[in-house]
Amino acid sequence: MLLQVSDLTVRYGRTIQGLADVDVDVPEGSVTAVLGANGAGKSTLLRAISGTLPLHRGKVAQGKVSLEGRDITRLDPAEIVAAGVVQVPENRQIFGTMTVEENLRAGALIVPKDKRGPARDRVYELFPRLLERRTQRAGLLSGGEQQMLAMGRALMSSPKLLLLDEPSLGLAPKMITLIGEIISEINAAGTAVLLVEQNAAMALKVAQNVVVLEVGRLALTGTAADVKDSPELAALYLGGH
Ligand code: ATP
Repeated sequence: MLLQVSDLTVRYGRTIQGLADVDVDVPEGSVTAVLGANGAGKSTLLRAISGTLPLHRGKVAQGKVSLEGRDITRLDPAEIVAAGVVQVPENRQIFGTMTVEENLRAGALIVPKDKRGPARDRVYELFPRLLERRTQRAGLLSGGEQQMLAMGRALMSSPKLLLLDEPSLGLAPKMITLIGEIISEINAAGTAVLLVEQNAAMALKVAQNVVVLEVGRLALTGTAADVKDSPELAALYLGGH
């Protein structure tokens, strides 16, 4: 197993429970989707894995996150990146006043100098639009292009596992389809993905495995094929919209 999250409990402050006793496995080479309504704990799960829970307030109270058998639960975010887990945050957090290429370079700080050029070339191959816009200020890109840039920047360090937080958020349907196809391509090239989505249709298309969270608890797990047709999914998630 590439990533194993076991018995994870996250609290915000003393009382607010972000996650309770959650188990999630991400097999090597897979796309695993995390579905759930607003506030279900999806972002909390990604942030607990990447070590970026809000300082002081968010805290892993119990449980373990391991990568290829190594306990990474209490490592610094930078150490977790170095171990091969990179998160693309929900609001993308690109550097708007920097060019596309400078943003990509910022994702390669831990990469040995001679490997940065080849990494950038791979990203441009995956995202030809970023190549076309490489000298443009990132703040001038469309929402979909900014999402591509955030994903491209994360891929610069060739992670084993990419954590994506709602990449479809705010995008037009065509762009959502394109982002879904790119996620499948990234996966086909050997990177595992943990994909948090509100857009169940897109996530079920690209993922092999699915977990559904409901108010901080695991409500359902299974293969995408199983979950797609389950009445529980309709009741738990789609039914709420
Ligand atoms: P969304 O789709 O809205 O991002 P989500 O499924 O990602 O939802 P989380 O953001 O993980 O859900 O939130 C889970 C719970 O933890 C919610 O009840 C939320 O209010 C709470 N929470 C999240 N971040 C904080 C924080 N920094 N301080 C206090 N409570 C928080």
